[in-house]
Amino acid sequence: MKILVINAGSSSLKYQLIDMEKNEVPAKGLCERIGIDGSRLKHQPAGGEAVVIQSPMPTHADAIKLVIAALTDAAHGVISDMSEIGAVGHRVVHGGEFFKQSVIIDDGVKRAIEACVELAPLHNPPNLTGINACEQVMPGVPQAAVFDTAFHQTMPKEAYMYALPYEYYEKYKIRRYGFHGTSHKYVAQRAAALLGRPSEELKLVTLHLGNGSSITAVNQGKSIDTSMGFTPLAGVPMGTRSGDIDPAIVCYLMEKENLSVEQMNGILNKSSGVAGVSGVSSDFRDLAEAAKNGNSRAALAEELFIYNVRKYIGTYAVIMGGLDAVVFTAGIGENNGAMRKEMIKGLDFIGLQIDDEKNKLRGEECDVSADGAAVRTLVIPTNEELMIAKETLELVRGNK
Ligand code: AMP
Repeated sequence: MKILVINAGSSSLKYQLIDMEKNEVPAKGLCERIGIDGSRLKHQPAGGEAVVIQSPMPTHADAIKLVIAALTDAAHGVISDMSEIGAVGHRVVHGGEFFKQSVIIDDGVKRAIEACVELAPLHNPPNLTGINACEQVMPGVPQAAVFDTAFHQTMPKEAYMYALPYEYYEKYKIRRYGFHGTSHKYVAQRAAALLGRPSEELKLVTLHLGNGSSITAVNQGKSIDTSMGFTPLAGVPMGTRSGDIDPAIVCYLMEKENLSVEQMNGILNKSSGVAGVSGVSSDFRDLAEAAKNGNSRAALAEELFIYNVRKYIGTYAVIMGGLDAVVFTAGIGENNGAMRKEMIKGLDFIGLQIDDEKNKLRGEECDVSADGAAVRTLVIPTNEELMIAKETLELVRGNK
């Protein structure tokens, strides 16, 4: 079966067509500037030239129509007609407490996604728009929703509750949800395969380290704690997000600088993190370059990031009562061997040790541990689209 994976943003729509039998991606692409002048579709057939199609896309439904037209085009298409698409899998950011796993979309599911809009005002509305657009353009094709939050719904209450008055949990559902769940689940499953052991036996710390970063304790295949919280602002310092800070700083700064809620939100989400500390960049490649040239704030930003990631590794090893492997993924986790090395440095007392030669590998699944290390260090490129497609396939086949 071929599955179309859709990740709809407010003015963009990413897609991947995945052939599940052949384990191939015949085509993928991106619609940009939906609803804005200058809309365009960049379509990339596997092994072929990328095609850019300039065409008005007033709505997401128009974008989907163009995607289908590109996929079935005589010159750069990869399928003969729409009936070859067996199902559509949608990335949905927030499933709140409604969704503990992926689901086939019906009206009730859409109402629940709508009910979570307050929790993810920037993401859930365009995700829903993408779903409605596909339903309109591809009637009768099963649609599945795969939630970033669902994998973390197995956290115990002591991990997801905050020590705030309980009424705010009841009234507003304020609790830890966690994000990047599709990525954490994917790399945890791949780690079990790579180690040749069943997930049910494993204690893993999965480190999704990119522009946004989150870390998860995966015990026996289940998320039992994760660093992001009520929103993706929590946890380790990120590209431009602060990560965890003393909450009192928010009130203090708002008062001192006479800031509105919106301004404070902007500072925490867009001007903080390693960009805020360094004043150089949110990109770790730029930080490394600046630090090498003697920029002490860039070096400090790197150190803050490394220090906080190490804290989570230790904390999660303790709450799981042991550790079999740490799993690095996403832009930094997959590509930045120097960061991995610093994060694991001195942790041989819990069994972690890296092999410097193996640690040079990038872009492929690999075990970069030193021979004989009791706890393995794995690098696993994430593939959220494939995970979404797998979950969709299982749902369509009725295996879930
Ligand atoms: P992501 O959000 O997963 O795309 O990750 C973005 C981060 O990954 C940036 O801070 C980059 O510095 C880092 N990154 C991406 N590609 C590379 C690479 N080839 N080498 C080193 N760092 C990289």
